[in-house]
Amino acid sequence: MSEATPRPLLVVGAGIAGITAAIEAAEAGRDVVLLEREASIGGRVLQLHHYFPKLCPPSCGMEINTRRLERNPRVRVLTRSELKAAQNGTVTIRQAPAYVNDRCTACGKCSEVCPAKVKDPHNLGMSEAPAIRLPHPNAWPYRYVLDREACPDGCRACVDACTYDAIDLEAKEREETLEPAAVVVATGWHAYPLDRLPELGGGTLPNVISNVQMERLASKSGPTGGTIQRPSDGEAPKRVAFVQCAGSRDHNHLPYCSAVCCLGSFKQALYVKEQDPEAEVTIYYIDRRAFGRNEDILARLSEEKGVRLLKGKVGQVKAGDGGGLKLKAEDVEAGRLIEDQADLVVLATGMVPNLKDGVLPLGLERDDDGFGLDDTRARVAGVARRPADVATCVRDATGAAARALASGRA
Ligand SMILES: Cc1cc2nc3c(=O)[nH]c(=O)nc-3n(C[C@H](O)[C@H](O)[C@H](O)COP(=O)(O)OP(=O)(O)OC[C@H]3O[C@@H](n4cnc5c(N)ncnc54)[C@H](O)[C@@H]3O)c2cc1C
Ligand code: SF4
Ligand code: SF4
Repeated sequence: MSEATPRPLLVVGAGIAGITAAIEAAEAGRDVVLLEREASIGGRVLQLHHYFPKLCPPSCGMEINTRRLERNPRVRVLTRSELKAAQNGTVTIRQAPAYVNDRCTACGKCSEVCPAKVKDPHNLGMSEAPAIRLPHPNAWPYRYVLDREACPDGCRACVDACTYDAIDLEAKEREETLEPAAVVVATGWHAYPLDRLPELGGGTLPNVISNVQMERLASKSGPTGGTIQRPSDGEAPKRVAFVQCAGSRDHNHLPYCSAVCCLGSFKQALYVKEQDPEAEVTIYYIDRRAFGRNEDILARLSEEKGVRLLKGKVGQVKAGDGGGLKLKAEDVEAGRLIEDQADLVVLATGMVPNLKDGVLPLGLERDDDGFGLDDTRARVAGVARRPADVATCVRDATGAAARALASGRA
């Protein structure tokens, strides 16, 4: 009698946490289905310019993971896919249409003829891209995507330009069901919306940007080719203010600390100084949180001239002259209110778990802030569980995969 194949582990979300959980389980001999709602995997880390602790490009770490995935036939990666339903141990997966299929060689001929433009989601809407495009230079699979809603009626220019027969404008959504042995949920986070912080100029003043936008501005594949400049006029900012805990540790917004925003701003202050050693940087903070090996970044920053760390909360950012910005803040150590000026303000907005809104997969429970709670149906990993840096998410995901397999019904 042949042995039944063990049921797979289902991992929902293919950011660094989900990819790690999938690879670890597969390398331990378990079949895995890895679900990602976007067209390519990697999650938010691929939007960063450099990442701590080593301050290297995120593509380095991600390439190691995609190589491990490529040589492991046990992992089946389903992109453009989400859970539609879960009942009695069976899950239904919905996969969005594959307008561009695996015959795509990423030659780019379709993009050249595409007349429709969309706001590029990878650059957080700070640039435009053709409706058919490579999502970003580190896309895996390395294949074009097509935003069908942006296409004008009757247009088939990309189909005619593609010599590989890789585009099907009539492609349909598909569904499949699965009975996983266990589930790891690693659906990650999104940034707290800037427009909820109007008192700090968020969503109203063009030269007030978020920390995630700063990562894209500094990146070579970003909207400015890697030059940090003011959105209003393209000028290089001479005075940059970082506002820590913008909407974090505040019961009107996010009551918790997002754990990495202090380090994120220290790192971004170094981006500014690398591009313009004469630039003046002020970081307004409540507490300086730099944990473990990351203390080195704070030490490097302290050696830079023209960098001020000021303990105090910024209460207001208003428009000044010529695109400039006026800040009102509390200087806690001097015990007084101060006014300051900047050319560019970066709000260190926090991380909101994607589990916060909507129906929770598999009837998971969440805490008051929207972070997932482990239960017998699924394990939660990465920022879906709590705000954390990449190294912590990787450790967390390895543990979640092991616990999921140990508690699985296979
Ligand atoms: C400004 C800033 C700078 C940072 N810099 C650093 C740094 O330098 N170093 C560092 O270590 N950390 C840094 N971080 C933190 C880092 O971004 C996180 O640790 C990391 O993104 C967590 O990975 P994750 O896999 O948990 O989540 P994510 O990266 O969010 O990945 C989650 C994945 O799940 C997918 N998904 C979501 N919902 C669903 C669904 N319903 N179905 C299927 N798929 C879904 C998403 O599309 C995504 O691909 C920074 C954070 C910020 C805000
Ligand atoms: S869809 Fe066709 S034309 Fe477009 S990049 Fe892929 S192979 Fe080239
Ligand atoms: S069909 Fe859509 S994606 Fe293709 S060329 Fe026309 S607008 Fe662009």
